[in-house]
Parts: sequence; structure tokens; C-alpha cells
Amino acid sequence: MDAINDPEVETVVVMSSAQVGKTEIILNVVGFHIDQDAAPILVVMPTLEMAQAWSKDRLAPMLRDTPALKNRVADSRTRDSGNTILHKTFPGGHLTASGANSPASLASRPVRIVLLDEVDRYPVRSGVEGDPVNLAFKRASAFWNRKRVMTSTPTIKGASRIEAAFEESDKRRYFVPCPDCDESQHLRWSQVQWPSEPEHRPEEAVYVCEHCGLARV
Ligand SMILES: [Zn+2]
Repeated sequence: MDAINDPEVETVVVMSSAQVGKTEIILNVVGFHIDQDAAPILVVMPTLEMAQAWSKDRLAPMLRDTPALKNRVADSRTRDSGNTILHKTFPGGHLTASGANSPASLASRPVRIVLLDEVDRYPVRSGVEGDPVNLAFKRASAFWNRKRVMTSTPTIKGASRIEAAFEESDKRRYFVPCPDCDESQHLRWSQVQWPSEPEHRPEEAVYVCEHCGLARV
């Protein structure tokens, strides 16, 4: 989120494990660009159905429960609000939620903020229009201050969109300090250990610091 807010940064790639808050990052960026820096926004999910579910289950509660956002975006259930599940307007901007499987939903008005979620679950081609990632990113070409964000859990090594994008990036990692020796490191599965004798007990797993070797539960 710091990188996305950095005016020097145009493209942000987030490759991570599942359930660590990637969709929350996208929601926070949407909230920021409704409240603080109004802009046209495009959010792309793997399918139109997932875009609808995201709008109803994730976006709507945020708009309802966040004081700064409440009343900025009219409820799509209100008659004449001009808003639908997949398209919402707010002062100074609008938000479109679309599906990578629907080229029609990807190719319309220019947008400044393009947010792509779970890109490894996108189809290789979106109809006859080509790569849905390129199609979506193209929408922001006219804006000098555009943001292009893609997030995903990687799927198959060598055939993963997010891995390819990460390889093209400057490959930053999230470093955390060891509580014992204070040395920074990024978390690796190989440092998770548990007793194998006399029987496997994963409930006793510890994380072993790669610098000082001390184990923490
Ligand atoms: Zn340590």
C-alpha cells in the first residue's frame, strides 16, 4: 500500500500466499481513491460473477461501515441512484467492477486506477480481444498519474502470470525482524519445523530464525 501511494511508482505486483489480505489491499486503494484522490477506477476479478460477489460481499460493507465513505456512493438499491452492482459513481470519479472473462466489461472508458485481483485465475485470452491484463492496463494509458496493480497467489511455476510479473519487477520482499536477534528476514516455509519423532506433531511447529537459529512458537 505504501508503494501504491508512492507517486514515483506506476505498477505494483503482489505475489503472495492465499488469505493474507490481497483483496483488502485492493479495497483500501478503492476507498482512498473515493475519499482522498477521486479518480476513475477499474477493479477486475477473474469472472463477472466474482466481480458481482466482490461488490456485494466486500465493497458494499466497506462503503456502509467506513465513516469517510458513507454517503459518498449512493446505494445501488436506491431508485435513480445511477449505480449498479458493477458500476458506481461518486464525486469526482467512478468505479467499475469487471470480469477477466468478459472483454466487453474490460474495454470501455479510460480509467486512472486499474486493480487486478487473482490474475493467475484469469483466462489466457478474453474472447477475441486478447490478454485481459493488457486489455485492462491499456485503459489507463492516457493518464500520466496512472496506477496499475496486480495481485495473485501463484499457480504453476513457469506458467504463472503473477510470477512472470514479479520476475520483471524489482522483487521486493516483506522483511520481519527476529524477536531474539533483531535480524531481518522474509518468512520461508523451510524455516518452519516440528518434531518428527516419535510421531509427527505439526501442532508443535516453530519458526526457526535463519540468523540466530532460535525457535519461536
Ligand atoms: Zn534471530
